[in-house]
Amino acid sequence: MDEEERMGCDQCFGEDPEAAWAWKHEPAECLLESSHFEISIEVCPACGQAFVRIFTEFVDWEEGDDPQYWDLLPISAAEREKLKGQAGQPDLDYLMELGAERRHLKADDHGIRWAGGGLMIMPGG
Ligand SMILES: [Zn+2]
Repeated sequence: MDEEERMGCDQCFGEDPEAAWAWKHEPAECLLESSHFEISIEVCPACGQAFVRIFTEFVDWEEGDDPQYWDLLPISAAEREKLKGQAGQPDLDYLMELGAERRHLKADDHGIRWAGGGLMIMPGG
């Protein structure tokens, strides 16, 4: 786990969260897909770094303006293999463990920022 600091490149893991968010990744594997909750793996076309993208939408019954959240967590090749084996039923505890102390990108209605850890996954719907 020593290479963690070296994950990604300036495009996908640079200091500017807005730029990292705007950087277009290549979709790879889909682990889970539903209307309010999606987990997929994608890859940086520049450096090959794999990321897990977690999308959660919380349905607001009153307003219909549903809050949406994205997390983008870099993963190693070994972690990607393990997650591919969980396609259809990804282990959320495992994902939160990976994101517990790892920098990842968070995006929601309030903006885009880097988070140092503490990845929380709460299926919406
Ligand atoms: Zn990259």
